[in-house]
Amino acid sequence: MSKANAVPLNIINRNDLTPICCHCDKGLTEVYSKTKGVGFIEGKNVLYFCPHCMKVLGFGQSRMI
Ligand SMILES: [Zn+2]
Repeated sequence: MSKANAVPLNIINRNDLTPICCHCDKGLTEVYSKTKGVGFIEGKNVLYFCPHCMKVLGFGQSRMI
Protein backbone atom coordinates (compact mmCIF):
# COMPACT_ATOMS: atom_id res chain seq x y z
CA MET A 1 0.00 0.00 0.00
CA SER A 2 1.24 3.48 -0.84
CA LYS A 3 0.47 6.67 1.07
CA ALA A 4 2.28 8.87 -1.44
CA ASN A 5 -0.72 11.09 -1.97
CA ALA A 6 -1.37 11.70 1.72
CA VAL A 7 1.95 12.98 3.03
CA PRO A 8 1.28 15.63 5.65
CA LEU A 9 3.09 18.94 5.29
CA ASN A 10 4.65 20.31 8.43
CA ILE A 11 4.72 24.11 8.53
CA ILE A 12 7.25 25.36 11.04
CA ASN A 13 7.39 29.02 12.00
CA ARG A 14 11.02 30.15 11.75
CA ASN A 15 11.15 33.86 12.42
CA ASP A 16 14.84 33.48 13.19
CA LEU A 17 15.68 32.68 9.56
CA THR A 18 16.02 35.17 6.74
CA PRO A 19 14.57 34.17 3.37
CA ILE A 20 16.75 34.69 0.30
CA CYS A 21 15.46 36.33 -2.87
CA CYS A 22 15.27 33.72 -5.63
CA HIS A 23 16.39 36.33 -8.18
CA CYS A 24 19.33 38.21 -6.64
CA ASP A 25 20.24 35.91 -3.71
CA LYS A 26 20.11 38.75 -1.18
CA GLY A 27 18.58 38.28 2.24
CA LEU A 28 15.02 39.46 2.60
CA THR A 29 14.71 41.14 5.96
CA GLU A 30 11.68 42.86 4.50
CA VAL A 31 9.51 42.48 1.41
CA TYR A 32 7.80 45.30 -0.46
CA SER A 33 4.17 44.96 -1.34
CA LYS A 34 1.89 46.83 -3.67
CA THR A 35 -1.86 46.55 -3.81
CA LYS A 36 -3.84 46.61 -7.00
CA GLY A 37 -7.57 46.89 -7.35
CA VAL A 38 -10.37 48.80 -5.70
CA GLY A 39 -10.86 46.42 -2.83
CA PHE A 40 -13.72 48.00 -0.92
CA ILE A 41 -15.74 44.81 -0.92
CA GLU A 42 -13.60 42.24 -2.65
CA GLY A 43 -10.08 41.46 -1.54
CA LYS A 44 -7.25 43.41 -3.05
CA ASN A 45 -4.65 41.69 -5.13
CA VAL A 46 -1.30 42.15 -3.45
CA LEU A 47 1.98 42.02 -5.30
CA TYR A 48 5.08 41.18 -3.28
CA PHE A 49 8.49 42.16 -4.60
CA CYS A 50 12.11 42.20 -3.59
CA PRO A 51 13.43 45.54 -2.20
CA HIS A 52 16.85 44.87 -3.75
CA CYS A 53 16.14 43.90 -7.36
CA MET A 54 12.41 44.82 -7.54
CA LYS A 55 11.53 41.46 -9.04
CA VAL A 56 8.19 39.95 -8.17
CA LEU A 57 8.26 37.28 -5.50
CA GLY A 58 4.60 36.36 -5.46
CA PHE A 59 0.99 37.36 -5.30
CA GLY A 60 -1.52 37.27 -2.52
CA GLN A 61 -4.87 38.50 -1.40
CA SER A 62 -5.50 40.85 1.46
CA ARG A 63 -8.93 41.70 2.74
CA MET A 64 -9.10 45.12 4.24
CA ILE A 65 -12.47 44.71 5.94
ZN1 LIG B 1 15.97 40.25 -5.30
